[in-house]
Amino acid sequence: MSDEKTEAEWREILTPEQYAILREKGTERAFTGALWDHKGKGTYSCAGCGTELFDSDTKYDSGSGWPSFWAPVADGRIELVDDSSFGMRRIEAVCANCGGHLGHVFPDGPQPTGERYCINSASLKFEER
Ligand code: FE
Repeated sequence: MSDEKTEAEWREILTPEQYAILREKGTERAFTGALWDHKGKGTYSCAGCGTELFDSDTKYDSGSGWPSFWAPVADGRIELVDDSSFGMRRIEAVCANCGGHLGHVFPDGPQPTGERYCINSASLKFEER
C-alpha cells in the first residue's frame, strides 16, 4: 500500500460517513447513497486516495441499491480479500492503494465478467468527462 496514513489523519480528510465505510468497513443503507442511481459518463475514483477505480461504461443497474460495476477500470486497482464477517462468506473489495474498504464482489454480474462489484457510494468520487 503506497498511501499510508494514521487513523487520525484519515479522520481529518474524510467525512464521518466516509470514515465509517472506508476505514471501519461500514455499509451505507441500500438506495441511500449519492451514486447508486447515478448516470453520466466519467470515472469513479477512491474517495480516500483518488485512485481511479471504475469507469461509467461498466456501471449497470443491479437493483441492489448500491453502485454496481462489472469490472474495475484496470488490473491491480482493487484487492480482493476473503471476508467471513456476519456469518457470511464474501469477497471484500479494497482499494489497492490506500486499503480503503469499498464493498464486496459477487458472482452474479452481467457478462462479459459475470462479476458484480457492489460498492458504497461513500467510497467513491465521480468525475465527469
Ligand atoms: Fe484508495
